[in-house]
Amino acid sequence: MGWSPIEKSFKNWLVKPNLQDYEEARRTFSWSTIDDELKGTLAGLNIADIALARHAKSDRADQTALRFLAKDWSIKDFTYRELNAQTNRFANVLKTLGVAKGDSVFVLAGRIPALYIAALGTLKNGSVFCPLFSAFGPEPIYQRMNRGDATVLVTTAALYQQKVAALRDRLPKLQHILLADIEDHLEAGIWSLPKLMQAAADDCAIAPTQPEEMALLHFTSGTTGMPKGAIHVHKAVYAHYMTAKYVLDLHPDDIFWCTADPGWVTGTSYGIIAPLTHGVTSIIDEAEFDADRWYRILETQKVTVWYTAPTAIRRLMRLDIDLKTQYDLSHLRLVHSVGEPLNPEAVVWGQEKLGLPIHDNWWQTETGGIMIANYATMPIRPGSMGRPIPGVEAAIVRRHEDGTIEQITQPGMDGDLALKPDFPSIFRGYLHDEERYRKCFVGDWYITGDLAMRDQDGYFWFVGREDDIIKTSGHMVGPFEVESALMEHPAVAEAGVIGKPNPMIGELVKAFVALKPGQEPSEALKLELLGFARQKLGAAVAPKELEFQESLPKTRSGKIMRRLLKARELGLPEGDLSTLETG
Ligand code: ATP
Ligand code: MG
Repeated sequence: MGWSPIEKSFKNWLVKPNLQDYEEARRTFSWSTIDDELKGTLAGLNIADIALARHAKSDRADQTALRFLAKDWSIKDFTYRELNAQTNRFANVLKTLGVAKGDSVFVLAGRIPALYIAALGTLKNGSVFCPLFSAFGPEPIYQRMNRGDATVLVTTAALYQQKVAALRDRLPKLQHILLADIEDHLEAGIWSLPKLMQAAADDCAIAPTQPEEMALLHFTSGTTGMPKGAIHVHKAVYAHYMTAKYVLDLHPDDIFWCTADPGWVTGTSYGIIAPLTHGVTSIIDEAEFDADRWYRILETQKVTVWYTAPTAIRRLMRLDIDLKTQYDLSHLRLVHSVGEPLNPEAVVWGQEKLGLPIHDNWWQTETGGIMIANYATMPIRPGSMGRPIPGVEAAIVRRHEDGTIEQITQPGMDGDLALKPDFPSIFRGYLHDEERYRKCFVGDWYITGDLAMRDQDGYFWFVGREDDIIKTSGHMVGPFEVESALMEHPAVAEAGVIGKPNPMIGELVKAFVALKPGQEPSEALKLELLGFARQKLGAAVAPKELEFQESLPKTRSGKIMRRLLKARELGLPEGDLSTLETG
């Protein structure tokens, strides 16, 4: 918390922020106001109606909804009208195949148009959309499709051959495979999606789903263990819309770019649904991370609001690029980040290099949408996740052994980060794991599994995941604090910190460090870093051991897997590795 706040000033803003007075909004906001703002075209509530169909019938119909950038930089645009027609066709394809309301439609694909069309078309049919990350191997695909009772899989011919064909006998419920890139049907059950789409009508009656009906199945990132399947309902769209308005601050003319893959919840909630609910243009890049490419996208597409993740920001920070002379990023108005703690260093890097601070926000698969955030109009305290969104109550609580729960109102105390589970996008279950779901709720609270603290002004500070907290010599140490201190050293690109069992002090703080390009590991540098951390953190919290690594193990969604660092350090089983980023 040694960083100065970054103040905001309204004066130079061309676009007036949607959330002007946070305190006022917290006092007056009610989710029922969203009822009036989001008038769909149906008797029920369907995400695809709110995100798409209602715009296709409005004066936004010819606005670009999605712009796809292929790897070779070619562009394919879909207006709201076109996307609406294509997704109608997809819903009709499902109907023709006998796919019913509530059946699960899985998609295994890169960021190609078919994925987005399938997602929204599935919702229109009243079926459940479940995205899979295209780089998963066969076993993680099988695990998820089996647990999720997949009826339909949309994928490409190559992905099908490489990863799914051999699994078919083990997936008896899987009836239809729709291949997005073949001209003719292969056999009954393995269909050419383009051919079916061509034969389908481009209007359809959207299933009048009810607000509480299941719409989305999202598997968690598997950072702390076996991924869980979180169930979300159509009403979650209220939170997607509301947070895109107040946190992302979307306005009708915005060009929005969410860099997350729809295989993770961010890439669906904010890479598909939320921007469409506001009728804006979303950029979708088919290629993987590349610093020059990303800056060129921001420049050439004139991106105004950018939503990315700490792992990408750290990769950009590693490179010493003079952004002001090399790229024209003058259209960029707001930068947001989610997924992992955002080191204060990164917030300030944004301010210095992009001329814009990075706005951290916190949420998880289970919450379906952003819960705690930094807002355009509010000063940023670098290292803080910000404050709860209007309409959501967050608190620090402590659980007692007798099952009771106590809210900690005193500022500066660590405890469980908890939410009142009365907002529309809270998950409605873990698939086939009722017991685990029930355990997340204690008294009036949903316990998030993260530890945090609240300062005297209501800003929340991430301390760590419950599973990652280190208990050393009677102190509780959050790895984030130690990692952020190490990150301040100019040689450090990334750090991951764990507790290593130690008979004298409980756990010993050990750091794993990846260096910036051009920096060589050495004994002298190790001692320098240990000394640097001790000076910043004090001897009780600073790491006692430090090891250099080429790079740190991460999930495919870019989160440092401390459980794996720990398992490897201790020679323990590595556990579920389905989401580990490889190569
Ligand atoms: P699993 O639950 O399977 O271990 P996961 O928790 O990483 O995986 P996600 O739901 O994708 O799966 O991630 C949510 C978690 O990511 C949060 O609970 C939190 O630990 C972390 N996180 C997300 N955003 C932030 C943030 N801004 N600051 C700190 N941590 C964050
Ligand atoms: Mg989790």
